[in-house]
Amino acid sequence: MIKIEQLSKSYGSHQVLKDIDAEIKRGEVVCLIGPSGSGKSTMLRCINGLEIYQAGSITVDGERVDASKKSIQHIRQRVSMVFQRFNLFPHRTALENVCEGPIYVKGESVKEATEYARELLASVGLANKMDHLPSQLSGGQQQRVAIARALAMRPEAILFDEPTSALDPELVGEVLAVMRRLADKGLTMVVVTHEMKFAQEVSDRVMFLDGGRIVEQGVSSQVLAQPSNERLRDFLRRVT
Ligand code: ATP
Ligand code: MG
Repeated sequence: MIKIEQLSKSYGSHQVLKDIDAEIKRGEVVCLIGPSGSGKSTMLRCINGLEIYQAGSITVDGERVDASKKSIQHIRQRVSMVFQRFNLFPHRTALENVCEGPIYVKGESVKEATEYARELLASVGLANKMDHLPSQLSGGQQQRVAIARALAMRPEAILFDEPTSALDPELVGEVLAVMRRLADKGLTMVVVTHEMKFAQEVSDRVMFLDGGRIVEQGVSSQVLAQPSNERLRDFLRRVT
């Protein structure tokens, strides 16, 4: 569904992604792991058009992601993103945060968008928090609003960039539980995470990025249990 071929991305003279080849199939959950600065966020941001890239190609169901406004608008409707720091609108309620995209970007009616937003907020356990502002919610609740907001666009895939790393440890579980349910339902997901238990139990495949290259990838249970790459072995020793 998402196909990346020979992707290279630089900031000025600093090459951050080098000849990335990767494919994410429909319904797959792929965890992207790697040390800080290895290019994980940049790769996600390239996939949904938040960054331009210099070489190679990214396609979503055959549609090329490029810098044109039309392409970007289109891709962002098909591929949503959830960020580490939630990025909710601070002066809008949980319900309004979830409705905004469907109404203003997709042109859904207020009624239709509101009904679906209520359903989604209930599904992430926030039926009684719909009228709260982000500041009146815990970090875990805010992140669940952000996930509901991403789902409200009815995307074909969601990209998660360290969705639990800004949370207090006791709030991590509630967000991972929501993500686990989405995975079980067959949503296509690319997840940058340091939660190795989640990677092991939920993801189908892992990709290990180091210095802007994918240096190892494969079935999660195998790659994480028996990494063949020395740098991945080192990395896993440090994070687990
Ligand atoms: P982390 O685990 O810390 O989030 P990451 O793997 O997500 O790291 P990226 O954020 O993709 O890494 O950054 C990869 C490299 O690109 C880093 O060296 C970073 O300094 C650089 N970089 C990222 N964004 C920019 C930018 N807007 N301008 C210049 N350099 C950038
Ligand atoms: Mg990052």
